[in-house]
Amino acid sequence: MEAVASENIVKGLVEIVGQKYVRADDVIRWTYAIEDFAGTFFHPLSDKYGPPDIVVKPHSAEEVSKILKLANTHKIPIIARGGGSDMTGAATPLKKKGGIILDMTDMNRVLDFQEGLNAVRVQPGIRWGELHHELAKKGVTAGLQGPHGFLGATLGGGIGGNCFSINSPKYGWLNENILNLQVVLPNGDIIETGSLANTKVKDWYYRYCNGPDLVGIFLGAAGSFGVITEFTLRTYPIPEYSATLAYSFPDTDSEIKFVFKLEWYGYVTDLWGIAFFTLPDSLKRILAPLVGERDLAIFATEAYDKDIFKAQKKAIDKMAKEFNGIAIPVEGICRALGISIINQTEWMGGGIFGKVMGPNGSDTCSIAHLPQWQRVVGSALEIMKENEDALSGSIPLIGADHFFLFAQLLGRGGVANTFAMTPADFMDPENLKKAQDLYQAIVESYMDTGVTALYRIGKESQFLTKRFKPEYISFMKAIKKALDPNNIMNPGVHGLGLEEEE
Ligand SMILES: Cc1cc2nc3c(=O)[nH]c(=O)nc-3n(C[C@H](O)[C@H](O)[C@H](O)COP(=O)(O)OP(=O)(O)OC[C@H]3O[C@@H](n4cnc5c(N)ncnc54)[C@H](O)[C@@H]3O)c2cc1C
Repeated sequence: MEAVASENIVKGLVEIVGQKYVRADDVIRWTYAIEDFAGTFFHPLSDKYGPPDIVVKPHSAEEVSKILKLANTHKIPIIARGGGSDMTGAATPLKKKGGIILDMTDMNRVLDFQEGLNAVRVQPGIRWGELHHELAKKGVTAGLQGPHGFLGATLGGGIGGNCFSINSPKYGWLNENILNLQVVLPNGDIIETGSLANTKVKDWYYRYCNGPDLVGIFLGAAGSFGVITEFTLRTYPIPEYSATLAYSFPDTDSEIKFVFKLEWYGYVTDLWGIAFFTLPDSLKRILAPLVGERDLAIFATEAYDKDIFKAQKKAIDKMAKEFNGIAIPVEGICRALGISIINQTEWMGGGIFGKVMGPNGSDTCSIAHLPQWQRVVGSALEIMKENEDALSGSIPLIGADHFFLFAQLLGRGGVANTFAMTPADFMDPENLKKAQDLYQAIVESYMDTGVTALYRIGKESQFLTKRFKPEYISFMKAIKKALDPNNIMNPGVHGLGLEEEE
């Protein structure tokens, strides 16, 4: 087979996008060899990630189409990439395969916004910060603010990785807000889904029409079925009244019941629930003087009308009391946890990651059935207890007393998010290996409970995709084979296209 970065292929790419947008030099290649997060090194496949052979920046669907045709002719892997922050190896090539990274970040424009449509048409390389800026000028909001702690991530990457976002408890996951996609298929065909599949329709975006929902198969597909080149996203009015509130609860069970009801009634915009018993000692020491050993719910609420807002806050207070909740001043708690309230509803949990995890920890992307969430936590805590001394060498590095769980009771659709941190010393291979093994054991234990699933799988979890029911995996493989017979689209994600590796 011809080398990926051969003169012939580089020349072909230069003809498509121009000299300036094709790079095959080592500095650039290695910049794209890792994702924007140290935690990626914990994944079982992390030593199998490597640099691409070439990085290309396209500027239109037509350019992407020509690139995919070229890649198909030469059977070269194609990995679409936005901010590269997925943390699951999803935006990184496999070392053995290399390939072309399609850096989508120059396709970052707002294309169409029409009042009355409640929708905005954008290119996938747009970053959350840019989108907010553009929408604010039109007097609307996307509702969702972007993934926690990383506003540089792109919307296209969020679609590829099933992003849940700040404000997901109210507005849903990113992919619940997608009304249409333009996708370049691996053979180079450019398709529109939903209402735009009709040749006459130009600027009306509706998802559920013209036959089956073909938007769905590209959502969360991590670029394995095609490259998204445009899409339409719902927009919302900007709520005029908003507040961040905090309550403490005597136990996790009461807190879970409160969170569940709060979301069910539609009062919560975003929420962090913290279960005291899961925290590392360092965080317990920070929180105990403020709330004792009680669990904590910090959340945002908003409304469009002053009177409704007042009534809503009253209803929330009544609801909290039903579960023995006590209102606490929110500013002190947020300061202690490193959460900055940007403008009441746009607040970030990024600080808490930095404080307790530092650069040397990893988390899992698991969601669990909220009412049964304690089972998931219980199983992970058991493993952690068994391994209490295993990683003690790495502890000074992160300022946490030992590896720990941090729980975010997301609420949306009754799911909770759990972060199991397994800190490690990257300079000590033995210590790193122990952390990786522990990470895998914890994730496996989550799955064993039967009430949890992962929402960003990427290339991270071959051991998890093996748990898919055989009929499901065959169905996925059949779609992959039909769309991408040469297996060029992001081989390795979701356990697809790894046959030769195995
Ligand atoms: C500190 C921190 C906090 C985070 N918090 C969250 C969180 O709260 N919720 C959450 O969901 N994630 C979170 N993440 C993970 C990550 O930021 C998000 O998943 C984000 O949406 C990824 O966007 P990206 O542009 O970086 O995607 P990338 O990593 O570039 O890509 C993600 C996937 O999408 C594919 N892709 C990219 N562009 C396209 C395209 N145009 N067409 C087809 N496929 C494409 C890629 O191939 C890859 O498989 C966090 C990460 C960090 C570092």
